[in-house]
Amino acid sequence: MGANTFQELFLDEMKDVYDAEHRIVRALPKMIDKAGSDALRTALENHLRETEQHVVRLERGFEQLGESPRRKACKAMEGLLAEAEELMKESDDDNLRDAAIIAAGQKVEHYEMATYGTLREWARQLGYEDLARTLQETLDEEGKADKKLTELSGTLNLHAAETNGDMELDEDIDEDEDEDE
Ligand code: FE
Ligand code: FE
Ligand code: ZN
Repeated sequence: MGANTFQELFLDEMKDVYDAEHRIVRALPKMIDKAGSDALRTALENHLRETEQHVVRLERGFEQLGESPRRKACKAMEGLLAEAEELMKESDDDNLRDAAIIAAGQKVEHYEMATYGTLREWARQLGYEDLARTLQETLDEEGKADKKLTELSGTLNLHAAETNGDMELDEDIDEDEDEDE
């Protein structure tokens, strides 16, 4: 099951993120559809185009390694995207739905950033300098996408949603009642 060499582990992680990127390409159009603000829709559309390029870059990476591109189910991304779907369907309020989309999107970006950071470092150590540079390029784009989402998060009007009665803030949590037995 597990990798026996560093090279194998590296290849496994490449397949994992290659699968993750495919899943994101499939999930983003649904998020774009549900986005309430034009700014969020545009940001997601831009990142969809970038994500398509991430797939292409990985394919070139596999080539450089003398391998054919292959996917290995990324269970983490599967879970993150399943959570995203749940979060998105919870509200009819545009601001709330955008908040949910942004939250889900940032989790996706951070997972990608973690993976690309690791892969870039491993590529360097294994002597794949070109690949390391390409991985860094993608890592930078994921980072920018994340920052853009943070910026958009700051423009949301969540208090309006609160007074609409769509969201109730739990002011204090009673620890005794919090135990589910
Ligand atoms: Fe990506
Ligand atoms: Fe994964
Ligand atoms: Zn991304």
